[in-house]
Amino acid sequence: MAKFIIASNRLPVTVKKTDADFTYSKSIGGLATGLKNYHAQNDAVWVGWPGVAKERLSKTDQRTIHTTLETDYKAKPVFLSEEDITLYYEGFSNKTLWPLFHYFAEKTEHTVPMWNAYQAVNQTFLDAIDPLIEEDSTIWVHDYQLLLLPGLIREKYPTVKIGFFLHIPFPSFEIFRLLIWQKEILLGLLGADLIGFHTYDYVRHFLSSIRRILGLDHHLYQIKHEDRLIETDAFPMGIHYDYFAESPVEAYDKKSDHLILSVDRLDYTKGILERLESFRVFLEKYPDYHAKVSFYLIVAPSRTGLDTYESLKESIEKTVSEINGAYGSFDWMPVWFLYQSFTQEELISFYKAADLMLVTPLRDGMNLVAKEYLAAQAHHHGMLILSETAGAASELSEALIVNPNDHDGVADEIKHAFEMTPEERMSRHKIMQKRLKRYSVTFWADTFMKRLNAIEPTVKTLKQEEVLDLDAVEASFKQASRKILFLDYDGTLMGFKKHPDQAYPSVRLKKRLTTLAEKPGTDVVVISGRDHQTLENWLGMLPVSLVGDHGLFIKKKGGAWKQMITASDAWMTSLRNVLDTYADQMPGAFIEDKTHSLAFHYRNAEPDMLSVKIPDLKETLRTMIGSEPIEIQEGHRVIEIKDQRINKGQATYQFTNDHDYDFILTIGDDTTDEDMFKAQSKGLTIKVGFGDTAAQKRVRSTKDVSALLERLES
Ligand code: UDP
Repeated sequence: MAKFIIASNRLPVTVKKTDADFTYSKSIGGLATGLKNYHAQNDAVWVGWPGVAKERLSKTDQRTIHTTLETDYKAKPVFLSEEDITLYYEGFSNKTLWPLFHYFAEKTEHTVPMWNAYQAVNQTFLDAIDPLIEEDSTIWVHDYQLLLLPGLIREKYPTVKIGFFLHIPFPSFEIFRLLIWQKEILLGLLGADLIGFHTYDYVRHFLSSIRRILGLDHHLYQIKHEDRLIETDAFPMGIHYDYFAESPVEAYDKKSDHLILSVDRLDYTKGILERLESFRVFLEKYPDYHAKVSFYLIVAPSRTGLDTYESLKESIEKTVSEINGAYGSFDWMPVWFLYQSFTQEELISFYKAADLMLVTPLRDGMNLVAKEYLAAQAHHHGMLILSETAGAASELSEALIVNPNDHDGVADEIKHAFEMTPEERMSRHKIMQKRLKRYSVTFWADTFMKRLNAIEPTVKTLKQEEVLDLDAVEASFKQASRKILFLDYDGTLMGFKKHPDQAYPSVRLKKRLTTLAEKPGTDVVVISGRDHQTLENWLGMLPVSLVGDHGLFIKKKGGAWKQMITASDAWMTSLRNVLDTYADQMPGAFIEDKTHSLAFHYRNAEPDMLSVKIPDLKETLRTMIGSEPIEIQEGHRVIEIKDQRINKGQATYQFTNDHDYDFILTIGDDTTDEDMFKAQSKGLTIKVGFGDTAAQKRVRSTKDVSALLERLES
């Protein structure tokens, strides 16, 4: 059991199998440094893959690793098979999510086996975490490999606290929508209580996707989803500043007066080819620098199994040799290409030696190298050229900000950096150093954790007095001799669909209503705002009573439809014209013509326009209605306009006036159902969902209604 659980794809310790034994090497990466204090707490555990494929391990090996990690590293391994690694890690994570989230739509692969593996491995992570979870645990999930995990945890543990941080960009809606499994990914993330990103742009993109894909509203970076409030915010990740700024490591003994450095993992997002092109332009435009400048291009091998990466490496080699061939001489090589990984101490030595750092990714969630270089240059004030498409640019505006595709612009900035006065370099550094020191990686982790800890559990637990005692309801139903069930349709018996026509009754629902209605002394009434013809088509053949158009039409079991009052329709034509105008302006909105009422549905309309158009429409309708006996009623993304005299409460009297029922059950979810709750307050009234109600009891969803009816049916 653990109070604090960290989950990330890789553990901060890598296990390697040697012939006789295993070796364990600790990672000194940013995340491990940032979370060090939290991980050091007594009851904290880090869950992740230890880096060795399952097939290479016997059951005994797995047990040994498990025990060593648990006792010596406070870690719990998730063992992944070679197939998992191919399909989940190299596949969905690195061939689907990585390119798409970095705006490389053309490199994005969508395959069902990769998606299936991604879901399965996220489930494997849940299985690993599950036995550790306590009621008051806090779980911090990291990065794009585990986007579904918050949702999986939440489903099983409604009250635990879950934080999520995305270490890569969140792309704009127009890019994100290209993902086939966009909804599943968003819903997975929404399992968290706090979702963190590096920049406010990523927060905005995420919120826009949430609104447009899931139709969920947000206010002040908070999202309302089911019965929870989810917070989102930007938490720009920092570095271990003092480690880089105070390091005693000596500067690398450079051979050139103007040393340019770049350090990246091999990746197409890093803009390495574009950077080389800019350097070529620099040499072409500014020949005075020939033989005076060297460019150390450090590229650390990464994702070596993937073809794209192999071919990128070849293109880099080719470009480097072209530049060296065209501009170099026997005693001067312009570009030094180092395709190898360096320790952070070795990197510091290069950072200290370099006069200029080129960080020009095409897209980068943050880019820590840029920050590390500046920290290591705290005393010498080397200049940084930084791409505007790196997350770090939103914090480091005193660097020389460039567009990585603008080779001329980058070339000019290289010259600018070399020729900048020491005073200017110092003043630019002063601001950036202050920020980097304060917003260190521990500050980042502390800020996120403080925010997460401050979040009140937002799961609205039902009040004690609202909770249904299913046994008691079942018992009184069975004891009663004359019983009636008033059941609203949409949002109660059936969930909402994109279009009302799609919410037709399932075979199971029809069977359930029939079984209930055939029980001795039992009347079932389906009571809806829907057009009575629709109800007839869908449920007319069942032995139940039907109420359509909010009570204007009633068909008692075995009888014929009756219109209850003579409603005047004179108002409909003019109001329909108004609704038409609004529907024209709001693509996706549509009008449902009922016999004596109108419904304006806007569930599928552009969410961003609703806050302007809907209040405007309501105001217009109110003005037009004047003193007519018509009312505007708001439902679940629908506005209904109908005769005031008609309501579902009145309709229920048409049944309860005729018989002495000793069991009356009324269930509904919407504002129109409140009239029923008031009219039938002597029986049992149940509201589906949250919000103010006159009902006595409450359930969360249509699933709970289904469970209740199943009990009565049995
Ligand atoms: N790094 C390293 N050795 C290398 C190259 C890079 O230790 O040979 C480290 C570097 O110091 C930095 C991290 O890898 O902390 C790279 O982080 P960044 O955010 O710049 O890029 P990412 O690789 O996460 O996309």
